[in-house]
Amino acid sequence: MTRILRTRAELRAALASTGRPVGLVPTLGWLHDGHRSLMRRARADNATTVVTIFVNPRQFNRPDDFERYPRDEARDIAIAEDERVDIVWAPPVDEVYPPGFDTTASVGAVAKPLEGAARPGHFDGVATVVAILFALVGAERAYFGQKDAQQVMVIRQMARDLALPTTVITCPTVREPDGLAISSRNVHLSAAERAAAPVLHRALDAARERWTAGERSGDALRDEMRRVLAGEPLANVEYVSVADGTTLRELATVDGPALLSLAVRFGATRLIDNEPLG
Ligand code: AMP
Repeated sequence: MTRILRTRAELRAALASTGRPVGLVPTLGWLHDGHRSLMRRARADNATTVVTIFVNPRQFNRPDDFERYPRDEARDIAIAEDERVDIVWAPPVDEVYPPGFDTTASVGAVAKPLEGAARPGHFDGVATVVAILFALVGAERAYFGQKDAQQVMVIRQMARDLALPTTVITCPTVREPDGLAISSRNVHLSAAERAAAPVLHRALDAARERWTAGERSGDALRDEMRRVLAGEPLANVEYVSVADGTTLRELATVDGPALLSLAVRFGATRLIDNEPLG
């Protein structure tokens, strides 16, 4: 039986009598196979699985993006039940940010480039809500997707620095058969944009192939991603990156673990993807 809870008090009461360890899966809802993979991993590792569904206004740097973010709570609950999640916490905004709330968790260097530069304030919003969720749930483990690689790095830094006792676990990116990373935002793509969108994965694959063949120049790998993306007229490139896998600083030479990543717009829809190297 999946319990659907709304308030902090309900959540606290439910957690007082559930089995340990607890695994937490934070989401914005509009659940898909990517989220399902996190729930399955959480269920496999823990006695109790908690999924949170909260479209966090603080992590949307554009009001229109927040407004048009897809929402369907009934469908989300059916998916959580299907995955035999123990607790769904789907709070109203006031339960997460009570009146008078006035604190921001702001992560340093690793939150600054890439998504941090493209979406000012986004990671402050993510770090703040995840800090609250970690404190409220007190889970032994929390599960996040490699799909949002920088987000996991930001959350790991935040949890370590604030001494939160939840271990952050990264799960592999789940893809459609044509390589497109599954995302709630894919629903906004037109048929033509959807057909074009696998170019993100092709660009990452092409750069990875060059790396496997021995290419170590950051510029050559960035050029390779741009070359593949340029073949798709509907793709408007925001950034391509070859960055250090720990600091996310752009690399001139790939001489250790690195992260290939990119952000591309199709019309009004912005997609991101990444591929670790080494
Ligand atoms: P979101 O609801 O988009 O904030 O995502 C909630 C969690 O699911 C985050 O940790 C995401 O990284 C993760 N996630 C989203 N899409 C995927 C995917 N395609 N594969 C794996 N994890 C994902």
